Amino acid sequence: MQYDIIIGLEIHVQLNTKSKMFCRCANLNEDVNKEPNSTVCPICLGHPGTLPVANKQAIEWTILTGLALNCKVNSYSKFDRKHYFYPDLPKAYQISQYDLPLVYGGQLEVDGRKIDITRIHLEEDAGKLTHPKGKNYSLADYNRASSPLMELVTEPVIKTAAEAKKFCQQYQQILRYLEISEADIEKGQMRCEANISLQEPKKWKYKGGCKIEPAGGYKLNPKVEIKNIGSFKALEKAIEFEIKRQAEALDNKETLAQETRGWDENNQKTVSQRSKEEAQEYRYFPDPDISPININSKWLKKILADLPELPREKRERFKQQYGFSDYDAEVLTADKNIANYVEQVISELRAWMNALGRPWETAHRKLAKLTGNWVGTELFKYLNEGGQNIKKIKITPENFAEFISLIYEEKINSSAAQIIFKEIFTKGGDPGDIMEAKSLEQMDDDNELEKIIKDIIKNNSKAVSEYKAGKENAVQFLVGQVMAGTKGKANPQRAKELILKNIK
Ligand code: ZN
Ligand code: MN
Repeated sequence: MQYDIIIGLEIHVQLNTKSKMFCRCANLNEDVNKEPNSTVCPICLGHPGTLPVANKQAIEWTILTGLALNCKVNSYSKFDRKHYFYPDLPKAYQISQYDLPLVYGGQLEVDGRKIDITRIHLEEDAGKLTHPKGKNYSLADYNRASSPLMELVTEPVIKTAAEAKKFCQQYQQILRYLEISEADIEKGQMRCEANISLQEPKKWKYKGGCKIEPAGGYKLNPKVEIKNIGSFKALEKAIEFEIKRQAEALDNKETLAQETRGWDENNQKTVSQRSKEEAQEYRYFPDPDISPININSKWLKKILADLPELPREKRERFKQQYGFSDYDAEVLTADKNIANYVEQVISELRAWMNALGRPWETAHRKLAKLTGNWVGTELFKYLNEGGQNIKKIKITPENFAEFISLIYEEKINSSAAQIIFKEIFTKGGDPGDIMEAKSLEQMDDDNELEKIIKDIIKNNSKAVSEYKAGKENAVQFLVGQVMAGTKGKANPQRAKELILKNIK
């Protein structure tokens, strides 16, 4: 049977604050190999009598995230205790937010579909347990305990695995634009969990508030939660697997359990972790030690002032203002620092075109295309190879712009461009100077080129007659000869034109 697929997401993200959520301990964000339990204090260890104080930065960043996603802000918010017992949780309760999250509502658009966001709240992270092989004990490290964790919950309105993946990727991009989290899923800075159920078409209704309800006498199929997802790819695979597994079970009239399943990366399947017959009882109640939060319009205004241009807006502006294609605009704005670099290059290019007396209006589309190509292919390739950061590269935007204008002006052909690019990437320097020092300037004298071509035609009569006999690519051989004869300085396109003109 064809089922309706109903997917919701819960995404936890570590925030980049300097200190933890309720104490002054450093927030390590998983990237430091600190001695276990070296970054702890009585507050984050939950000793009795200690007084937690909420991290203002974490609160502001959660609100900022809400504003970026068109959420509404609760003018009155509070922290609640969520009780459960597990050794990674020192207090036996987690400070979280229950009925009054900092922000609620909102959407994130994925491929033209607006995905509704239920809420974003702030809570504290747990510690980390390790289970040494062959031992009958576990080790607890509380360095991470009580680090700020921001949780986003979506409505169950996602329809495919690909859409769920894209939602998480776009959310990550926004968090990086806001510079509040690296949100690296592989490092556990972003943890995505999906809940999935399959229902028979037209027998259920979406109710809002994260709920669906049955229509008529229909009994809803249970919802399965997937955890332990270590990458975007794993998220997509896990959801696809789960859709297939549930559909097959339903087709075979098997009963599905409401349960939590983990993604087994080695075997590429989900496995049951625990069944959840009834909703867990967390005995939420307001944390009496932490003051509620009043968010007035003055504070909101201050937070709103920190809201940068977001990826979607930047993409649109790159198309409108610079004439980038859809594809280039997406690639070039994926990383905010790359986008900033590109904008500096474009602004330098404009200055170059001015200096050369070329009107910007006629040149800018082609220049944008060239810039998009060289950034999107060669620059990315070199950056990846060296594991380098755009902020530290040796090519200044000015040199990059001059390099692009050398190509635009047809001063260098593509093989010379490759040589110069490698040089400016590895050592820096002025592309024009390098072109001259290595005499890479493209031949622009047709007479001289034609002389060489006539010689080559004379000395390669076999290729010429093959071409005349209809073997089209014999002309490529001749172009190759011309490039060799000019030490690579000819314009291959022009060479081809002149060859064809001379063998007629
Ligand atoms: Zn602490
Ligand atoms: Mn949570």
